[in-house]
Amino acid sequence: MNKLIILFSLIFPLLSCTNKTESCDKSDFKCLQKLMNNHVIKKMSYWEKFHNVPINERVFVAPKEVIQYIDLDNQKNGFQNKPFAPKVTKDFMNDIKSAIDEIPSTVKTLLDKKFIGVFLVNDLGGTGYTDRIFNEKGEAVASFVVLDYQVLQKRSANEWATWKESTPFKSDPTYSIEAIIQPKESDNRKYAIQYILLHELGHVISVNKNFHPPWGLPPSHIQNIEKYKFFKESWKVENSNYISKFDSTTMPKRKRVVYYFGAQLESNQMQQIYSDLENTNFPTLYAATKPGEDWAESFVTYVHNVLMKKPFSIKIKINGEVIKQFKLCWGSPRCANKEAILSKLLGKS
Ligand SMILES: [Zn+2]
Repeated sequence: MNKLIILFSLIFPLLSCTNKTESCDKSDFKCLQKLMNNHVIKKMSYWEKFHNVPINERVFVAPKEVIQYIDLDNQKNGFQNKPFAPKVTKDFMNDIKSAIDEIPSTVKTLLDKKFIGVFLVNDLGGTGYTDRIFNEKGEAVASFVVLDYQVLQKRSANEWATWKESTPFKSDPTYSIEAIIQPKESDNRKYAIQYILLHELGHVISVNKNFHPPWGLPPSHIQNIEKYKFFKESWKVENSNYISKFDSTTMPKRKRVVYYFGAQLESNQMQQIYSDLENTNFPTLYAATKPGEDWAESFVTYVHNVLMKKPFSIKIKINGEVIKQFKLCWGSPRCANKEAILSKLLGKS
């Protein structure tokens, strides 16, 4: 599960849940989680009507049940956002369908049965969100993606990536970051959507695979860590927490990397953080935040840069002058073991 922007409220009033028969106090995490676990959208039978169309047609305005579920999740997380169905323009629908259409066929093949579709809402409380669906045996079998329609209207691909990569650092007029993920001539909304979606699709593809422990499973509950081969390249469990193998050596400030809300790093630390990152096997800084994000960031950057041959670079600047340029690790020894897993899954065009 993933949320890209974190907005939270300090107000926790008593409220009625949107489920007509039950209600929870907003601070009652267990009650809200129970309503979510038992929600109609967690069952595969709910999704059949969305599932039986080609992949690039699986884009929908979120139905009321999905909106209700996201609302519960926002309440559980203390977010004030109240999701509602957007009026989606034809242009936007064309952009998102075309963005999906251009995704490599190897990715579409992996997605087919697992990918329910993309559901658009307003006021999601984030840019993107992915959650799992279970079969009668309680096994995770598929996933759906929710995207915020209003948020996606705003930025081109490079504007979005620059904004995202700037968020871990406190604002300072001297230091800046520029991220480039799309050539200038095609730097538009459609390719921002495609990149954001590919990250979420990485989460979808991880369902029922052992790239990393399942989302939501407490580290102390993991039975056999040896089976998570991708995870094991960078992570371990210590004192019931996931920590990276680099925390005590090459990347001591990793735990201070917080995206979207509540920057904990000073801007003058940009250069050092990215130099530290080059001594790890994380492909991006966001990958260093959590095991699931490590997988999704590895997936999106591999598909985007290696399979689709699109650019990726992060430039760190002082007063507008580039002082450091960070590039992806695909093709270099530091990420060779992770690349072997991705290459086996996706091939190389
Ligand atoms: Zn993610």
